[in-house]
Amino acid sequence: MEFATDGIYLAGCARSPKSLKDTVEEALGTAMRAAIPMKRGYIESDGLIAEIDGEKCMSCELCAETCAYGAVEVLAPAAQEAEGEPAARRSFKVIEALCKGCGSCAAGCPEHAIAMQNFSSEQIEAQIEAGLVNVPAQKQLAFACHWCALGAADLAGVSRLQYPPNVRIIRVMCSGRVDPTFVLSAFARGVPGVLVAGCEIPTCHYISGNIYAGYRMDLVKILMKLAGIEPGRLRVEWLSAAQGDRFARVVDDFNKGTNQLGPLPAEVVSGLDLQAAIACADSDRLRLLVGKLPELAELGNKYGEIFSRHELTRILTEAASDEFVTQKVLILLKHSIMSVKSLAAKLDIAPPRVLRIILDLVHSGNVRRVKIEGTSPVYSAEESAKEAVQQRDEKPISGGVESART
Ligand code: SF4
Ligand code: SF4
Repeated sequence: MEFATDGIYLAGCARSPKSLKDTVEEALGTAMRAAIPMKRGYIESDGLIAEIDGEKCMSCELCAETCAYGAVEVLAPAAQEAEGEPAARRSFKVIEALCKGCGSCAAGCPEHAIAMQNFSSEQIEAQIEAGLVNVPAQKQLAFACHWCALGAADLAGVSRLQYPPNVRIIRVMCSGRVDPTFVLSAFARGVPGVLVAGCEIPTCHYISGNIYAGYRMDLVKILMKLAGIEPGRLRVEWLSAAQGDRFARVVDDFNKGTNQLGPLPAEVVSGLDLQAAIACADSDRLRLLVGKLPELAELGNKYGEIFSRHELTRILTEAASDEFVTQKVLILLKHSIMSVKSLAAKLDIAPPRVLRIILDLVHSGNVRRVKIEGTSPVYSAEESAKEAVQQRDEKPISGGVESART
């Protein structure tokens, strides 16, 4: 029996009770299999691998926890010195021979420090932009995993099954590669519906990519609600490569549903709320939290407490709602200097809550006090925070306004 990680085998009684004869036969077969790469002296791996940018990495360890293949190595200080890194800082490295290229680590990295060869965020964003370049309001976007969903789409095609031609399919190796920001930035370009399709649970080609995708899409639905987008505009489907007919039915049904909802209103597409939702999906805090959810559901917290899906959704909703207001404050302070009172009036929330957020943002170095006007201090976003917001809203929002009007 082979493991998900190449080069590890189980044989004989290690698998199940067996006679001596069967055990010896199985052991011989296993030894022959193992001898092939050993004799060759090298192993072959796909070119699709992850690469960690040590400059951006904040050593959170999430990628190592996410990877089902143990392909992310935590470099011990001695090994780091040998790699030329300062010894005090732990760093992370992808073992190329073990990496399968699913991209689940990249979609969850809080710092976007992981680049996927041939499936980088920039390449996927460019595909989203190209797919929605004309009249995005009349299209649907579908992220399909290479192994099952795309197989089902292919089967639907060769079986000559009819489904709406307005769907633009973006291939990803695994549904775990779908970064929550991809979905929200597609809405910011004016598309009325996004479908995320992957292998059936628990048959993910990459073991657990679809589990991570499920939790990430839960976060997207919460953020969509906060941004005033109906959760029905995002559909998550798990299907097998043999279900071409189901793929066609899902696309057709989803298309009818989003047609009933109509196009996304222009004020939603270009509004502050969607901008803040994208910033939330990009925030360290929520990305770290979502990355921990599968562990909390399966192994529990450090006290061994296992959480139900319902409890995890509640935790995620509370954290997202809190972060949403913080991001709105930050975006407003990027555009102009404001006092607590004016922010509270603009966002229609109580001044003490705004003050708490401002103090946290000042403490974390994202906001600074500029001057005192009358008796009120006024604040502005720090340059670094301004740049981060600028990069985000230059990409999806400006595209969204133009595309939505096309
Ligand atoms: S998830 Fe990203 S930031 Fe965290 S350790 Fe891995 S590469 Fe570094
Ligand atoms: S791309 Fe997949 S297999 Fe490779 S390191 Fe990331 S999670 Fe592991």
